[in-house]
Amino acid sequence: MKRISYDIVIVGSGAGGGTVAQELSPLCRQGLRIAVLEKGPRLRDDEFTGRELEMAGALYEDGGGFLTADGTMTIAFGCAYGGSTVVYTGTSMLPPERVIRRWDVPGLTHADLDGRARKFMAENNAHLVEDGLINENNKLFVEGCRKLKYDVQQFPVNIKGCRGSSLCNLGCPNQAKQGTDRVQLPRAEQNGVEVVTRCEVLTVGEKTLAARVAAKPAGAKGDPSPWEPGDYQIDAKIVVLSAGAVNTPALLLRSGMGRSLPRLGYGFTSHPAFIIVGEHARPIVNFVGHPKSYYVDQFAESDRFVLETCMYFPFITAKSMAGFGEPHSAFMRAFPRLQMILVLACDEADAHNRVTIDKAGRPVVHYRFQPKGIYGLMSGAYTAAKILFAAGAVRVHMPVARDPTIEAGDAGRLEEIAAAAEFRPGKTPVSAAHPQGGCGMGIGPSDSVTDSYGRVHGLPWLFVADASLFPNSLEINPYVTIMALADRVAQRIREEVPALL
Ligand SMILES: Cc1cc2nc3c(=O)[nH]c(=O)nc-3n(C[C@H](O)[C@H](O)[C@H](O)COP(=O)(O)OP(=O)(O)OC[C@H]3O[C@@H](n4cnc5c(N)ncnc54)[C@H](O)[C@@H]3O)c2cc1C
Ligand code: SF4
Repeated sequence: MKRISYDIVIVGSGAGGGTVAQELSPLCRQGLRIAVLEKGPRLRDDEFTGRELEMAGALYEDGGGFLTADGTMTIAFGCAYGGSTVVYTGTSMLPPERVIRRWDVPGLTHADLDGRARKFMAENNAHLVEDGLINENNKLFVEGCRKLKYDVQQFPVNIKGCRGSSLCNLGCPNQAKQGTDRVQLPRAEQNGVEVVTRCEVLTVGEKTLAARVAAKPAGAKGDPSPWEPGDYQIDAKIVVLSAGAVNTPALLLRSGMGRSLPRLGYGFTSHPAFIIVGEHARPIVNFVGHPKSYYVDQFAESDRFVLETCMYFPFITAKSMAGFGEPHSAFMRAFPRLQMILVLACDEADAHNRVTIDKAGRPVVHYRFQPKGIYGLMSGAYTAAKILFAAGAVRVHMPVARDPTIEAGDAGRLEEIAAAAEFRPGKTPVSAAHPQGGCGMGIGPSDSVTDSYGRVHGLPWLFVADASLFPNSLEINPYVTIMALADRVAQRIREEVPALL
């Protein structure tokens, strides 16, 4: 086993880890040694081909299909230099005041988080995209919403030089999306932070980590790790865990910290989601332009759902539709004529929903759909179907309806169809891309895992800086809030470096 030492080690390079790396990187000029250990590979620009199966395997954990314990939901998250920010869509939302107030974390104010979030919005070039990048799928969503008098709003998106290839969730082939792989990590490296890819941290002990560096598999995308393959012991005076809401709790649990931190793994939420597709009589341009420009969140408080435009590729679309055989094939044959809306439920922390580990130490996510989450998905499906018909769809696929294919002639019976609809866990296809919680912030070990600056209770040298810090669902797209929280963690570390080293 090789042994290496650093002053600060950051585990994971996504929204949280990339931000901490950038914000701590000026310390390298004072002679501190800082490393980011990232399990995934670093791809060259020319390896982003936009091919669905190829890129899903290269950039996502389990190809984007990580399954919950009972197999009723898949969770998508990235595993690469830049983490999930390589595959996210780049919609950039400020933390909602009502949610931060409800979280009620002592020491965490909305005003503080908002100021930091705005800094990262500007740094990542978040802005409302110009008309030329807004495709027909998005325009039809706006048209349908306006007919129904819904409050439709445009997403700020963090792109620079976007060529409208609509491939954001497969990694941008045009280097336009401003994820941590494009902005924060390169800056951190310029300042002297080392990024070690293909390096999986196995356990964390008292100021030390055990890690394994993997060889690049034959034919795989990405550079080899800068370190030789093999096992390493890495000593660090300060450790920051940013492995994401599934992997950070799992890493702490397999490191034996569950006994002193009884809330570890609890409070997991994920914005469970499904897509509702509407078939039009004519082709709908969905695969050119930016895929996600508009949303409706007026129902988040009352009915627990948010609607967003979306564009999914054939494989994801096929697996997201209920049923099989001819009705399913008919929608897939109509792929170039499909309009798509994503329904996200605003789920809530629940005693059952949590991250644990299996005997081999791998993460296991226990997720049970709660009545409020199911209500959110059901009412979201009904509202999305109304929007699709208002926009001119000739038939709609509603995965929760008894017969998922609803013809335009039955649009007047939509309320009745929705009332008879049924959410069947395991049969209704649900996926999530916003895993949150598991190391929630709070007062002490009886209610949380960390304080409001991400410091793990009782371990002054150990911090968490990622989506696992959320004590409950954020109810909107989370990456900007994660960066704002990571900025607080970095600030606390900078202030305490003299005492901690
Ligand atoms: C398809 C998709 C679209 C999305 N779109 C949006 C969007 O438009 N707007 C938005 O706000 N959010 C979006 N999100 C969510 C957003 O990307 C995530 O919430 C955010 O990136 C999470 O940040 P994080 O730091 O918690 O984890 P991640 O960004 O997932 O980073 C965690 C990193 O840790 C690494 N890691 C894990 N375990 C280990 C280990 N043991 N050792 C070393 N490294 C490890 C992983 O490989 C990964 O790179 C999207 C997500 C997906 C999947
Ligand atoms: S739509 Fe823009 S940001 Fe998304 S993949 Fe294409 S060029 Fe990149």
